[in-house]
Amino acid sequence: MDHESSHSSGAAFVLQRTMKDYAASFYKSKAWQACRAGYMEKVSGLCEDCLAKGIYTPAEIVHHVVEITPENINDPAVTLNWSNLRAVCRECHAAAHGARIRRYKVDELGRVTAR
Ligand SMILES: [Zn+2]
Ligand SMILES: [Zn+2]
Repeated sequence: MDHESSHSSGAAFVLQRTMKDYAASFYKSKAWQACRAGYMEKVSGLCEDCLAKGIYTPAEIVHHVVEITPENINDPAVTLNWSNLRAVCRECHAAAHGARIRRYKVDELGRVTAR
């Protein structure tokens, strides 16, 4: 009996698991939740990139301009600093990452996945 053969490879699933382990607890932290909520309020929940073009789009993601790394994950000047944050919609978030990381694409939920 070979029940396993009907299952497709787990590779695609693994690629979708993009939140890095070192960052997972940060994104769940009260400090980040409060920071993110406060920032969203500051920008009135609007995408800053779209707003710069005069378009009103609800922001869905608070993006870190200086990307969080294992080295700076405990540095509030990076992780919780409003001047390092940008509220963006999915499309602008994809563009923000696409400009820097060409090898990756960003799906409709704003997750960065390998091409
Ligand atoms: Zn936008
Ligand atoms: Zn981002």
